[in-house]
Amino acid sequence: MEKKDLPAIGIDLGGTKILAGLVANSHLVGEPVRVPTPSGPENIIKALLDIIADFQKEHLVLGVGIATAGIVDTESGAILGSTGNLPGWEGTALKHVIEERTALRTHVENDANAAAYGEARAAGLHTRTCSVMVTLGTGIGGGIILKGSLYRGAHYAGGEVGHIKISMENQRRCTCGLWDCWEAYGSGRGLLATALEMARGKSKDQSVICERDGDLTTKDVLEAAAAGDIIAGNALKKYHEHVAVGMSALCHVLDPDCFVISGGMSKFVDLKLIKELLFDRTLPRIAEKLEIYPSRLSEKAGMIGAAQIVLDAVNPIESMSTTSAC
Ligand SMILES: [Zn+2]
Repeated sequence: MEKKDLPAIGIDLGGTKILAGLVANSHLVGEPVRVPTPSGPENIIKALLDIIADFQKEHLVLGVGIATAGIVDTESGAILGSTGNLPGWEGTALKHVIEERTALRTHVENDANAAAYGEARAAGLHTRTCSVMVTLGTGIGGGIILKGSLYRGAHYAGGEVGHIKISMENQRRCTCGLWDCWEAYGSGRGLLATALEMARGKSKDQSVICERDGDLTTKDVLEAAAAGDIIAGNALKKYHEHVAVGMSALCHVLDPDCFVISGGMSKFVDLKLIKELLFDRTLPRIAEKLEIYPSRLSEKAGMIGAAQIVLDAVNPIESMSTTSAC
């Protein structure tokens, strides 16, 4: 096998677990490895180096792609922005440390951007003018692919779609400290807040979600909605509107070909309903041909995308800019 045909190691560094696997041609080769994320930057780096060493015992690899939470300077591979899930991670010169210790070509990418790249490549969407991935989870993440290249912005914070402001009422504080961000409404936490607002003043015999005293979870709301609870069902309908409003804002800035919807909340989202709601709120020229796809790679998107960025930097594909990756 020529060196350019070797797989790359993809690693998704999350707040609770590290997922790693060998990737070739946007596909996982063999089974991924899962280990709990240790606490503190030094322990995390040790865990990453151990994972890489284990793969290298069995395989020749082209390089390493690491998807991590936080804002990443993709030129230097340093973590610029903090993330609550990985305390102390800000300021870590991750690419430098990994390259120095392994002598492997290394690329570090924001996890949502890596996931967007992985999804776009796996679905053949890299040839489109603009594809946007939206991750609906406990928060909202996003990634924008323009003609095959990740759009990272002037300060590596492009695609932070969860912080689009969708209301002027200052009703909900976002985790970022700003008010009324899309994430405060269109995430799992947002659905919970909507359900609690709708349940306020209602009695316990009107809805099962009124029976809980302050310990209601997003999962409870989803289960109640599925069981026919009216307030929970209305909250879930409102949640779809909230998701559509943010997507509409993105439509009017980007005029995308398509969205890919992923994340833990995506399996509770009716994409047909989202499309209808989006159509009602978006210029017809943009909405008429817009496509909305479910995720293909789900939780593996960040790992596969980070590795594929490394592979594509070595073997650029025709429709992509070679300057877009590492
Ligand atoms: Zn925010």
